[in-house]
Amino acid sequence: MSPRTLLFVLLGLVAVAGSSLSCRETSPRATHSQKLVVIGFDGLDPDLVRQWASEGKLPTFARLIDQGTLAELDTTHSPESPTAWASFATGVNAGKHNIYDFLVRDTSSYLIDLGMVERIPGRFLFNYIPVRRPEVRSIRGGTSFWVTAGRAGVRSRVLTVPVTYPPEDVPAGELLSGLPLPDIRGTMGTFSYFATDLSRYEEGNTEFGGILKRLVFEAGVASTQLSGPPNPLVRQRISTLREAEPNDRTRAELAELHANADVLLPMRIEWRRGSKRAVIDLDGQRVALEQGAWSAWVNLEFRINALLRLQGMAQLYLIGADDELQLYVSPVNWKPDAPPLPMSAPERLSSDLYDKLGPFRTLGWAEATWPLEEGRIDEQAFMDDLYRAFDDRAQVILDRLSAGNWDLFVGVIESTDRVQHMMWRLIDPQHPMYDAALAARHGDAIERVYRRSDQFLAEVLERLDPNIPVLVVSDHGFNSWRKAVNLNTWLVQEGFMGLKSEGGFKKLDDLFGAGQFWEQVDWTATRAYAMGLGQIYFNLRGREGKGIVSPGAEYQALTRDLSARLMTMTDPDTGAPIVRSVYPRDAVYQGPYLNNASDLQVGFHEGYRVSWQTALGGTPAGIVYPNMKKWSADHGSFDREVTTGTLISSRRLDRTRYDIMDIAPTVLKYFNVPIPPEVDGKPIF
Ligand SMILES: [Zn+2]
Repeated sequence: MSPRTLLFVLLGLVAVAGSSLSCRETSPRATHSQKLVVIGFDGLDPDLVRQWASEGKLPTFARLIDQGTLAELDTTHSPESPTAWASFATGVNAGKHNIYDFLVRDTSSYLIDLGMVERIPGRFLFNYIPVRRPEVRSIRGGTSFWVTAGRAGVRSRVLTVPVTYPPEDVPAGELLSGLPLPDIRGTMGTFSYFATDLSRYEEGNTEFGGILKRLVFEAGVASTQLSGPPNPLVRQRISTLREAEPNDRTRAELAELHANADVLLPMRIEWRRGSKRAVIDLDGQRVALEQGAWSAWVNLEFRINALLRLQGMAQLYLIGADDELQLYVSPVNWKPDAPPLPMSAPERLSSDLYDKLGPFRTLGWAEATWPLEEGRIDEQAFMDDLYRAFDDRAQVILDRLSAGNWDLFVGVIESTDRVQHMMWRLIDPQHPMYDAALAARHGDAIERVYRRSDQFLAEVLERLDPNIPVLVVSDHGFNSWRKAVNLNTWLVQEGFMGLKSEGGFKKLDDLFGAGQFWEQVDWTATRAYAMGLGQIYFNLRGREGKGIVSPGAEYQALTRDLSARLMTMTDPDTGAPIVRSVYPRDAVYQGPYLNNASDLQVGFHEGYRVSWQTALGGTPAGIVYPNMKKWSADHGSFDREVTTGTLISSRRLDRTRYDIMDIAPTVLKYFNVPIPPEVDGKPIF
């Protein structure tokens, strides 16, 4: 089990690499005088591109398709961004790169943790003096094509590609990290929401990673606090106490420590009912906002002790300030010029970009999906913010593109994925959350972001010699998610999982704190359990801590029996089949990380996805129910056959379907770099 301790820092002790913004000087070989550009849009759906390009709404895409080819790009098992972008980078299947899902489980304790990285906490002498810097390690195996190419002298620029945090050293190149670069709390984006009309019952952590606080005004002033990073000193003391024999004194101290687990910043808000404006005093800075206005980035410093401070930045949005006051504070992003840990390679790149371009958001999951999901901001605010996220990424990519000194250029924008997750309900009248009035206002949200992508692509092409080949790539497509499926509850009903009590309700925050998982499960009566998006793991003897399924014949029989039963699952309302395919582990993965793969990957039909509670191991009542959330479309846990991504090549291609693993060998072949033998993909040209 990787330690759950989150990221923090020794700012003063961070060694600053001494390289400059321009690419490290290497003399390109003669064969590398060619250039190649790969632009990624997360989740760009081939059907929507085809439709809107033919309707004249995407003129740049249309021109590129005309000149070259639009093909479908097979995604990975499972059809999710971390897995697919890892296969994009390495050209191998997940069995060789180890990224199967957003989540991983500890095989001995069954505890669920975030995948992609391993976090090793820092250490403090006398619980005060920082003596070891915390560390984050990628769990991704395989070799990315920019590293293989770089070793052969190809100069590359790699910008905000998912699964590039922590940043890897790119020979002859530079890299600015994307997902899963966390916020200052070490999470995928914890927002804060302060309001006068919150009940005590609503206060605290929300299901999708927000912190809600109730405001009480006296004489026009309310005092509150913004929650910052978990205090590493408190964390270290907690883990020391947990190892000791529990007694009344340690229990009391633990309770006290848990109450003070986060570093807090004092916040003071001045507001008069009906004034439609407020002044927020945050960390000594006064921010005056009119109702409906966003602030500029506000720099924040979280003081852990005299030796240790963490820098961050956030934006404030005054949602309402008339009859009631509601204030949103964005997740605290790392400051590019003072990140808690390196976020680029060379390390100085992020800081140099900040000096040149000003603040830009650094959080890997840059869009405000969670506050919209929780109903704390509305569609308009979500879209306004999403465009700023898009523009921040676009600005960095265009700057590095114009800077020259590269042979291979790779940049990815993810806003296309987030807008589809959240706004699909407004283009699907069959969705239970379809709302005609809202659709009249925001029904074109997805189309507008595709058009913004088209405009961005035009800005990229303007900067390029027309002979430079361009590949536009997405990692997967999209499906409407109309009904949620409680896969663990179904496993219980079908006798594959045993329960000893009712299941507790899971929150995203459980992943980042001392969350409990599976406390309701009777492992002695459980042969299979589901978690993540569509993964089913067997409770395998010798692998799982309390395994009961024997490897060999029993494993094979369970594979056959459970797969067959899954295929008979039907929607009780309509009788429609729910499961389109079941993929046994050995049929789809090969490689050194095979042991970490799920034993079955379930691929649902259009309309059905595993429930959020299933993803975190919950077993709530009921099997199939309408998805009444704004997160209304997805790709994870859908059958990959109907979730293909997009490939647009400026060079004509022979076929109309390729695989995301084909991109890496295509790039290597183009630069005359030998393709490593472990690569599974094949060059497309
Ligand atoms: Zn997505």
